[in-house]
Amino acid sequence: MNYDFIVVGHGLAGAILSYTLRKRGHRVLVIDEPKANSASNVAAGLLNPVAGKRFAKSWMADEFIPAADAFYDELEKHFGQELFVHKPIYKIFSSIEEQNTWMAKSAGEGWNKYIEATYTQSINQPTVQDPFGGIVIKHGGYLKVAPTLNLLTKELIAKGLLLPERFDIEQLTLTESGVKYREDIEANHLIFCEGYQVVNNPYFRWLPLQPTKGEVLEVRTQNFNPSCIYNKAVYVVPEGEGRLIIGATYNWRQPDEQITKQGEEELSERFSQITSEEFKVTGQWAGIRPAVRDRRPLAGVHPKYKQLSVFNGMGSKGVLMAPFLANNFAEALEGKTDLLPEIHISRYFSLYYDYIKHQNHQT
Ligand SMILES: Cc1cc2nc3c(=O)[nH]c(=O)nc-3n(C[C@H](O)[C@H](O)[C@H](O)COP(=O)(O)OP(=O)(O)OC[C@H]3O[C@@H](n4cnc5c(N)ncnc54)[C@H](O)[C@@H]3O)c2cc1C
Repeated sequence: MNYDFIVVGHGLAGAILSYTLRKRGHRVLVIDEPKANSASNVAAGLLNPVAGKRFAKSWMADEFIPAADAFYDELEKHFGQELFVHKPIYKIFSSIEEQNTWMAKSAGEGWNKYIEATYTQSINQPTVQDPFGGIVIKHGGYLKVAPTLNLLTKELIAKGLLLPERFDIEQLTLTESGVKYREDIEANHLIFCEGYQVVNNPYFRWLPLQPTKGEVLEVRTQNFNPSCIYNKAVYVVPEGEGRLIIGATYNWRQPDEQITKQGEEELSERFSQITSEEFKVTGQWAGIRPAVRDRRPLAGVHPKYKQLSVFNGMGSKGVLMAPFLANNFAEALEGKTDLLPEIHISRYFSLYYDYIKHQNHQT
């Protein structure tokens, strides 16, 4: 069989990229080993235009958010169901100092678009602990990631465009015109979207990925107000009927995929600083984020093998970034535009040449 593209990996990155390529008229084969605890399957799917404690606007939020809205709208129409839940985010100040930091920051340009309200004292919701107030952020929400990926997977299977198995690199041959996989599959180009597992990929393992473990909890409560997402050291995503997702931890020292008591305690403790309500932990998951040293994604064609590319490094913001970047990458592969320089793997080509030198020394 002949394809324009083979995409290896069907997490958020591979799924959004392969859908984008298909929509642009390309014939795409996806090869994905299903993984219940992939970063995508355990993610709460939060999209937050305001990042971190220092109240910085998320990188390229003005470009990424409209692209994400358009992409998820289109998916919802395509599948006839709600996949992205728009909800305001109440970012609670943890101290008077944090409130002051925000007050100074908010005087700058460009915030109106994202801030619905600022409260300098509690908004007096009976179950919420917010003595210093907080800000209500617009244009946030969450993607139902696992259900979205399931729908896309089912569609690919129905069209015969998915091999649900591990990609075996030993079966890959690079040819004049592209790639050959096993004896029966040929394509012009192959794109690796393996998430953190790119560290095992002989063609791209020189990229500076920092696998970063994250844990999330599912808890149940009775009276916690589900009208918005809460954020103070952790996020609290209300998924309905008293079910909340609390996330997430960050651990790059020991990036394994095991849930831990320490993770449960850390998330429970932080959640109990947001609410005085009783809650019961009913689930816990761990996954590994594909984070990058400079916190920017990784996309582009291999420096030597022009038939191979990578689309990866979404870190903790795949939901926000992937739709815009998949479109940018698709256009770049078609030769219609340049890749954003901030995500282009050419910024790390010196690591590739060092890697090759090291390999040559060893042989
Ligand atoms: C606990 C946690 C919470 C998070 N919360 C959020 C959040 O709220 N919002 C947000 O935007 N992001 C969040 N993230 C980050 C988000 O999950 C990532 O940005 C994104 O999912 C990465 O997607 P990916 O496709 O690159 O990788 P993955 O999700 O890891 O997918 C890679 C896929 O490739 C497959 N694969 C790999 N190698 C091979 C091979 N050789 N052959 C076949 N298949 C292969 C894997 O099995 C997997 O299916 C969170 C992450 C974690 C761990």
